[in-house]
Amino acid sequence: MANGHTHQTDVVIVGAGPVGLFAVFECGMVRLKCHVVDVLDDLGGQCTALYPEKPIYDVPGFPRVEAAELIVRLRAQAAPFHPVYHLGQQVKALEAGTGGFWRLTTSTGTVLQARAVIIAAGVGAFGPNRPPLDGIEAFEGKSVFYYVTQRETFRGKRIVIAGGGDTAVDWALSLSEVAARVSVIHRRDKFRAAPESEAKLKALAQAGKVDLVVPYQLQSLDGANGQLTAVNVATLDGAEKKIAADVLLPFFGLSMSLGPIADWGVALERNQIAIDPVTTVTNKPGIFAVGDVVTYPGKLKLILTGFAEAAIAARSAYALVHPEQPLHFEYSTTSGIPTG
Ligand SMILES: Cc1cc2nc3c(=O)[nH]c(=O)nc-3n(C[C@H](O)[C@H](O)[C@H](O)COP(=O)(O)OP(=O)(O)OC[C@H]3O[C@@H](n4cnc5c(N)ncnc54)[C@H](O)[C@@H]3O)c2cc1C
Repeated sequence: MANGHTHQTDVVIVGAGPVGLFAVFECGMVRLKCHVVDVLDDLGGQCTALYPEKPIYDVPGFPRVEAAELIVRLRAQAAPFHPVYHLGQQVKALEAGTGGFWRLTTSTGTVLQARAVIIAAGVGAFGPNRPPLDGIEAFEGKSVFYYVTQRETFRGKRIVIAGGGDTAVDWALSLSEVAARVSVIHRRDKFRAAPESEAKLKALAQAGKVDLVVPYQLQSLDGANGQLTAVNVATLDGAEKKIAADVLLPFFGLSMSLGPIADWGVALERNQIAIDPVTTVTNKPGIFAVGDVVTYPGKLKLILTGFAEAAIAARSAYALVHPEQPLHFEYSTTSGIPTG
């Protein structure tokens, strides 16, 4: 990993989610060297930050793979091509440099120059929707968490989960196996989760293994020095309850914003980057985009679609970096992994 210097390379990839990582592999297969930047401290984008322990069932060749495991494999697949990762840095600026190079500047001052840029920025800068509770910041990261990365951390705890979507329901089901107590607060009786999961949750509630606190909303938190002792909830009519708790998990979805990308002059449609799917090029020659961040007619926001776009982007980037040497299509079974 590198920080604070100026680097020149063939391709800069913005975003180290699953699609950005696979773009490293595809670029490597056509002998393009990559630098990869991500604002998060870890590789893997949404897979790592949002659902590392969830199984994915629609990655070809894997009947079932946990999101974190997929990222381990993608990293290993990219490794022979020696990508340089710049983690914990946000790409702030992308502008035309000199000599046909694009120039990217990160939040820590690293400057990257390349003829081709592949934007694989997913949902952009993503963060949780925080409930508007006085003083919640003091508990965040200590007893209020917006993501669960390891459920074992919560063994034996009294957990309050707030929210009515899939994430709230799925974690209530899973954490009920390890927690001392799980209470689920939702403002309505009906959940916005998969019907099967909702039925399982209600069955657990009937068996007395989970407390369903509906229709209630979060009102305030009790505790000191970052440690919660209770969560106070209320109905719209003003009926109040105090729930003793060690941990609050508010799952109110994500706020997503493109962040600095919106200022780079790439054409956007409904807050996504418009590309030509034939080449993945944006309105700016030399800037390509792939994965969740892009839109075109028929776009599917799936990992497998992003993988295919990464293969196309690598070939488009090759044509730009080596215009004098046409690329001959080869299967990986024929070429093997190119070295040197
Ligand atoms: C709970 C959940 C379950 C899912 N299940 C499935 C499933 O079963 N199958 C499936 O196919 N898909 C699933 N998805 C969707 C899948 O995770 C996404 O399609 C996939 O992560 C998109 O990959 P990506 O690389 O395009 O973007 P992301 O994974 O979003 O990664 C983008 C990266 O870009 C970084 N970034 C953004 N802007 C900048 C910047 N300016 N500078 C530096 N870095 C930046 C971000 O930090 C992020 O790490 C699921 C998603 C969720 C939330």
